[in-house]
Amino acid sequence: MELIRGKNRDQTAMSRLHIPIAVIRGDGIGPETTDSAICVLEAAREVIDGFELVYQEILAGAGYYAKYGCDIEPGGEVRAGDAEAIFLGAIGLPSVRHADGTEISPHLRLRDRFQLYAGIRPVKAYPNTPRPLSDRRASDIDLIILRESTEGLFYSAAVHGRSRISDDSWVEDTLRITRETSEKLHRFAFQLARKRKAGGSRGLVTCVDKSNVFSSMAFFRRIFDEISLSYPDVEKGYSYVDAQALDLIRRPWEFDVLVTENMFGDILSDLAGGLVGGMGLAACAEIGDQTGLFQPAHGSAPDIIGTNKANPLAAVLSAALMLDYLAEKHQADSLNDAARLIEHSVNRGFQEDRLRPFELGGNMGTLEITRVLTELIRDGEY
Ligand code: ATP
Repeated sequence: MELIRGKNRDQTAMSRLHIPIAVIRGDGIGPETTDSAICVLEAAREVIDGFELVYQEILAGAGYYAKYGCDIEPGGEVRAGDAEAIFLGAIGLPSVRHADGTEISPHLRLRDRFQLYAGIRPVKAYPNTPRPLSDRRASDIDLIILRESTEGLFYSAAVHGRSRISDDSWVEDTLRITRETSEKLHRFAFQLARKRKAGGSRGLVTCVDKSNVFSSMAFFRRIFDEISLSYPDVEKGYSYVDAQALDLIRRPWEFDVLVTENMFGDILSDLAGGLVGGMGLAACAEIGDQTGLFQPAHGSAPDIIGTNKANPLAAVLSAALMLDYLAEKHQADSLNDAARLIEHSVNRGFQEDRLRPFELGGNMGTLEITRVLTELIRDGEY
């Protein structure tokens, strides 16, 4: 790909893209990894040019709750929605809970409020990183788990009072699948696979369900089939979730995009994440019609707060997903180039053994990783 240094392809004579980003640094290692991700974003922006990211901090999290008795600053949710994307570090502290014992989780409300239905979890093997599978093809693992994130078996969990509980003899949780959300989700999956195919991936969407047992899942698959008709250039496949769990261990390198129900996606993404290294590499995006929320998949890791042990790469890779999302939204090459530059620099850092996080048995903490990564980015090779 051609690199245009310091020249703005998306800039008209008078204006350039100014993109407001809501930043919730949150709890535990959240602030450290967010600061690292912003440092890397800014390094990429300086190299590529063509856009401005305007960061607007919103205070939220368990620490905020402990101090002020509410989990997000007044007006915070509205301000988050006014930005073009939300970047979040991590939320939650084991010592701070609601009176009923549940965790402080303003981000779950944001997911519900903005209907962030498309949960993207990339699972990619980076060079020179530890992997539990000994098969040499494990180095080819590069797939996306697309988890529906607003309904499914989490429908009851998202809103208090949706579970049906009798006296003390039974409880029912509802698995809800709607046509509207499923259509959007499957369309998203096929478009993602088409885009990945253009970049050299297989171009395969696998519908992961349990349609042999549940009517809800048969409905989910039926909508998958309907939507697939509009994407004849993308290969499609089917898998039952139990068989898929086995195949993620036996032949994960054969998959590309896996589209699935909320609970199945929750479980499979942790399993798949375990195939390619630690939590410090697990990026995550949650996208809706209006906005997207980008955050590392790991928690606030309070056991290593302030020790410089946190691996910021999951946050950095989530920031690259955010650039991808904004590139699509604005049809802007500069944002897309910045995303590629960050991803390539992470890959190159591992390839050349210059990125060695403590978390993966190496000797580098948050600050060293950030420094090396910004150096690689300023090399500008991608
Ligand atoms: P949550 O329920 O919020 O996901 P959790 O308690 O399940 O949180 P994490 O906070 O993700 O889990 O931490 C699990 C373990 O992984 C901890 O030992 C933590 O130190 C480690 N860990 C998590 N993220 C990172 C990271 N970015 N770098 C290094 N270690 C991490």
